[in-house]
Amino acid sequence: MKYSYVTHLSCSKCEGTYSSKKIQQLCTCGAPLLVNYDLEELQKNFKKDQLVGRSNDLWRYHELLPLEREETIYER
Ligand SMILES: [Zn+2]
Repeated sequence: MKYSYVTHLSCSKCEGTYSSKKIQQLCTCGAPLLVNYDLEELQKNFKKDQLVGRSNDLWRYHELLPLEREETIYER
């Protein structure tokens, strides 16, 4: 199972795109960055019933967080 479907970050204002591997919240132009997802893969693989039994916090949706390694989820 994939644990993150984040592909990259893109600027909400200009054409700038950034790697989701780097922690960055603003574009060089000063506008906030948006998280982009591989929606096709997400729709194919991510089912709502996978959320059953997960902790009731942000990590519930770890597929939607820019994580690099699955262990990050447990090392918090
Ligand atoms: Zn920008």
